Amino acid sequence: MTQDQAVLRLDRVSRVYGRSSAAEVCALREVDLAVHAGEFVAVMGPSGSGKSTLLTMAGGLDSPSSGRVLVEGRELGGLSRRRLAEVRRRSVGYVFQDYNLIPALTAVENVALPRELDGTGSRTARREAMAALEELGMAELADRFPDDMSGGQQQRVAIARALIGDRRLVLADEPTGALDSNTGEAVLAVLRARCDAGAAAMMVTHEARHAAWADRVVFLRDGRLVDETGRAEAETLLAAGAEQ
Ligand code: ADP
Ligand code: MG
Repeated sequence: MTQDQAVLRLDRVSRVYGRSSAAEVCALREVDLAVHAGEFVAVMGPSGSGKSTLLTMAGGLDSPSSGRVLVEGRELGGLSRRRLAEVRRRSVGYVFQDYNLIPALTAVENVALPRELDGTGSRTARREAMAALEELGMAELADRFPDDMSGGQQQRVAIARALIGDRRLVLADEPTGALDSNTGEAVLAVLRARCDAGAAAMMVTHEARHAAWADRVVFLRDGRLVDETGRAEAETLLAAGAEQ
């Protein structure tokens, strides 16, 4: 990967849902976006504006109806299913809005899973998983099952799972939704630190206060990327958030 190459690039990405033209929903419309190493991008916009769709495209969980998605310079659309799965495991950490933890696995087993699937020995994977849980303040609950954890605890396990391994792209769909404000800020500090260490992150959020941790805020409306805000404006958002 060359120095100026984006970790994530979306090139005129559109996504239309629904088969018949009557039922068609254009969830994303020709979105262009690049996220570079070290950058933390917040995505804001009303409900139904395409934020989650944008993330699923970026993470290769679904493919665009038109346009291209490149992760670390590789076009996802050109990969076999197997190679795509590999890119998703090695390069992309994904925090789902509804956590998607595996109920039959403990917290530490959930977090270690992507590494084990990728061939890391189970002791190493477990050690890394413990370190990730620790970073999220979840080490004591390592042996709990998801059903025995609160929503906020499950959310932090899901974030630990997205951060394990040295994944260059972290995608998080409202990762602070179930957290109280102190825990939310702590999670954002972890994401920020990950970006400062060279990862690229894109996070959907409703809260201006949380978006203020980002270098850049992009807004979606009806599937279109309508605005980009730099760090200075993000700090103004922080001020606005603090007044609420
Ligand atoms: P957001 O995350 O901003 O709330 P989404 O990306 O979830 O928005 O959805 C964007 C639009 O696409 C909405 O109109 C939603 O109803 C529609 N949509 C999302 N997923 C699907 C799907 N799997 N099938 C049909 N329509 C969908
Ligand atoms: Mg959503």
